Amino acid sequence: MSRYEMVVGLEVHCQLATATKLFCGCGTDGFGAPANSRVCPVCTGQPGVLPVLNERAVELAFKAALALECTLASESIFARKNYFYPDLPKAYQISQYEKPFSQHGVLAIKLKDGAAKRIGITRIHMEEDAGKLVHDVGNVDLGYSLVDFNRGGCPLIEIVSEPDIRSSEEAYAYLTALKEIIQYVGASRCDMEKGEMRCDANVSVRPVGQAEFGTRAEIKNLNSFKNVRDAIDYEFSRQVGLIESGGRIVQETRLWDAVKMATVSMRSKEEAHDYRYFPDPDLPPLKADPAWVAQLKAALPELPEARRARFAADYKLTPYDAEVLTAEQAMGDYFEQAVRGLSSEGAKAAANLVTTELLGKLHADSLSIAQSPVPAAYIGELVALAQTGVLSSKGVKEVFAKSWETRDSPKILVDKLGLSQVSDEKQIRAWVTDALASNPKAVADIKAGKQAAAGAIVGAVMKLSKGKANPALVNRLIKDLTL
Ligand SMILES: [Zn+2]
Repeated sequence: MSRYEMVVGLEVHCQLATATKLFCGCGTDGFGAPANSRVCPVCTGQPGVLPVLNERAVELAFKAALALECTLASESIFARKNYFYPDLPKAYQISQYEKPFSQHGVLAIKLKDGAAKRIGITRIHMEEDAGKLVHDVGNVDLGYSLVDFNRGGCPLIEIVSEPDIRSSEEAYAYLTALKEIIQYVGASRCDMEKGEMRCDANVSVRPVGQAEFGTRAEIKNLNSFKNVRDAIDYEFSRQVGLIESGGRIVQETRLWDAVKMATVSMRSKEEAHDYRYFPDPDLPPLKADPAWVAQLKAALPELPEARRARFAADYKLTPYDAEVLTAEQAMGDYFEQAVRGLSSEGAKAAANLVTTELLGKLHADSLSIAQSPVPAAYIGELVALAQTGVLSSKGVKEVFAKSWETRDSPKILVDKLGLSQVSDEKQIRAWVTDALASNPKAVADIKAGKQAAAGAIVGAVMKLSKGKANPALVNRLIKDLTL
């Protein structure tokens, strides 16, 4: 195996986050809705209808391309890709072929060992989705197929990478970074469970040192990043095994079987000429107004890598915290709102609260950050309450948990629950004096230099104060009073 190298290129489809389909006014919210409830004469290919391009889809597609540093074409062409399949009522798919709207992009990925690599993006083009065939209802096999056109005509971008990927880990890192960027610019929600992000992988092998590529197999419909990783690794060993035993790789389309953990041959791969591509006569060339493109570019949000670097520098976060807090646009926004007005020390404390308490709760209840019952401002409030000595670290966790349940603000909860930490020096001095008087042995030990004996006094003070005494103040006064 070590004498061979894998060569992988990925084709990723993302559904653009528009309200309506690419060429008609039907809603894109048909996932899980009654079958064929989001259809019209246009997306079901009735005779005499004309497609009208969705401007919002173009805007989102362009934003994705700009974020991936692609060159935008001043003019691109929609083409008909002709093939017959029951989920495609027109018997052609409107796509882009010879003149896609964007080319020559790049995506920087980071590997586990910290190494960085740049993966080339060959092109991004727009196209419409096909419908969906239904072969079973629940676990009952129908013995025939039904067709649901809700998804037919939904707007997609296809992002084609250069064959720059050399390991399944690189493929995984590429998909992770790609998903992040696409979500950051709002081009797609990339919800893989709803099929809003799908991946095909082109895999070939070659002896290490050889410049020419081997014959590639295309693995279709990989619906999770894990499946992509597993399928690429499987395909690599299959192809190497075949070559080593004197066989020949054929160009074909294969399907990943996640249960058997193997790829199986589906059909010999079509060549582009099999599709009889030609420009769609119903759609004029798409011309991008340079001023509009410049506007889109200027309005792009800060991208994940840049934000990560800024978080690490401005808030003194660890690389891990910076990564977790920028993985989603909404998470980064939440954190920035939480730390407004806090010092960098406070920001670090807020980061801890968010990455442990908040994310733990969100995860346990399967909620997104947008659905958090604890708003960002409460995190800032909790940190401030800890910094001014009102709340102990245990108190912070307690108030956070209560706030999650009641949605009350930490300030209100501190009063309600009587959790306010006592930092009144006079009161604490009285408790410490009491504790010292009733623990003569510990006092003697402290005076003999055994600092650990102070623990018994702290414990006694906590008992007297019902856990509310400010521990820093207690420790200082024990020192003062035993000198
Ligand atoms: Zn329609």
